[in-house]
Amino acid sequence: MNTPYGGKLINRFVAKKEEYQGDLIETPFIDFYLDSIKISEGAYSPLEGFNYANDIDSIINQNMLPNGLPWTIPIVFTTSEIIWKKLKEGDDLFLRKPNGGIYGYLNVEEKYFFDKKDVALKVYGTLDESHPNVNDILHNYTNYGVAGKLYLFGEIEHENFGELNPTEVRNIIKERNWKGIAAYQARNPPHVAHEYLQKTTLEMPDVDGLFIHIVVGRLKKGDYKPNVIIEAYKRLIENYHKPEKVIFSPLNITMRYGGPKAALFLAIIRRNYGATHYIIGRDQAGVGKFYDPYAAHQIFDKFDIGMKALKFTETFFCRKCNGITSDKVCPHGNDDRLIISQTKIRDMLIKKEKIPAEIIRPEVAEVLYGDDVLL
Ligand SMILES: [Zn+2]
Repeated sequence: MNTPYGGKLINRFVAKKEEYQGDLIETPFIDFYLDSIKISEGAYSPLEGFNYANDIDSIINQNMLPNGLPWTIPIVFTTSEIIWKKLKEGDDLFLRKPNGGIYGYLNVEEKYFFDKKDVALKVYGTLDESHPNVNDILHNYTNYGVAGKLYLFGEIEHENFGELNPTEVRNIIKERNWKGIAAYQARNPPHVAHEYLQKTTLEMPDVDGLFIHIVVGRLKKGDYKPNVIIEAYKRLIENYHKPEKVIFSPLNITMRYGGPKAALFLAIIRRNYGATHYIIGRDQAGVGKFYDPYAAHQIFDKFDIGMKALKFTETFFCRKCNGITSDKVCPHGNDDRLIISQTKIRDMLIKKEKIPAEIIRPEVAEVLYGDDVLL
């Protein structure tokens, strides 16, 4: 099992303070709410709170934290102008759940001007508002940045779909006595091509188990609903994996569609859950045509995050090979290959067409034939 990133698994949960009566309360935007929980559970170790201005500067310009650790996506908290003007450094800003009570506070160590355009452009490489995260930064973040350590109260109840936190995953890995753990990132129901990557990885002599970690927190319109992806994965694991070789959990964060930078960030998160290996297929964490599909492979050569990157080229069913294979080993051409994008599958589902078993296992496909599967 891997050590946490930066050496120590962060835990920012504290006993509840007595009921707060003042007016320094903010209901965070959903991205910040989900991030606050992940920071506190240790999924973003070594972060203990939201990034300071000099962290952000270092991340967007050098892809690292000021201490030299590679880090590619700034974890930002912005407030309303009214709250920001009231806050003084040293104050506690209390945090309210989107539909509920106060769940913790942020000790304000710094107030700063958050430059939306600069951050969006440097992290995502574009200011095109059709990019979901760029759109969020430009329209749902404010210019009023606040940084400091987090203190969350006890156990957080949220719509977690049976999510495991880093400590729980580490405990399972320990019980199973796994040394090599490969993390698999997904945000779509599994194709047979994905299953092939997972099983090829499990064949590796230094991999004892697979950690399938599905981003469900906040996706974009047209993505599958979280319960659909989760059910589809459960079907795959029950019917086609050895369950004792797999740990499965949703990951409740806002998906960062940042191509290579997001891939590196998502890998670091998985190291905090104990993973030693990280599986990277084609166009991981991409959206539209914003990123080179193999840029996510290359970024792992540039930055050492203490994990082994398992890089896979495109996988598909080949009629001549008569099985699932990949660009790396199949000698045949595109005419023999059944390459079907997620977009095409979504179109087939909308038209109520049956998805062939060469693309998606029938037990998995069944889940997708429902009426209410897309966001
Ligand atoms: Zn072939």
